[in-house]
Amino acid sequence: MEIKKDCVVQFDYQLKDVAGKLLESSSGAGPTTYMHGHGGMLPALEKELAGLCAGAKVSAKLTQPYGPNHPDSMQRIPLKHLRAKKKPEPGSIVVVQGEQGPRQVTIVKVGKYSVDVDTNHPFAGMDLTFDVDVLDVREATAEELAHGHAHGPGGHEH
Ligand code: ZN
Repeated sequence: MEIKKDCVVQFDYQLKDVAGKLLESSSGAGPTTYMHGHGGMLPALEKELAGLCAGAKVSAKLTQPYGPNHPDSMQRIPLKHLRAKKKPEPGSIVVVQGEQGPRQVTIVKVGKYSVDVDTNHPFAGMDLTFDVDVLDVREATAEELAHGHAHGPGGHEH
């Protein structure tokens, strides 16, 4: 079957910048699993995957899929608000609880009681290439449809 709304897709990927430098891949954590058409995947990438079948390979060049880099994105956060076990290093990426849910931020400066973070997504403002191997496409189960996300390896764990 081909990728369309309400199906569950499993894929391997390599994420590269325009110079071909590898930024991220599924080789460590294992394949990614998502349910198509439910906001669980980067919209620009989801559009490229629509209509593909298991076994398909695609190299999707995306223009700023994480949006532009906002210059006024520096924020000072009390250290205790970071869900980190130890003091973060500048340049590291941490997850903070924002008004719209958890988000990734980059540590810029670490003080005694607070950290300065850049709230832009680490890949904001970048053009990216996703090399994707589609591994599996299947119908979502009734339970997955009710939850609005994929279950199983690479998907949502409860
Ligand atoms: Zn669920």
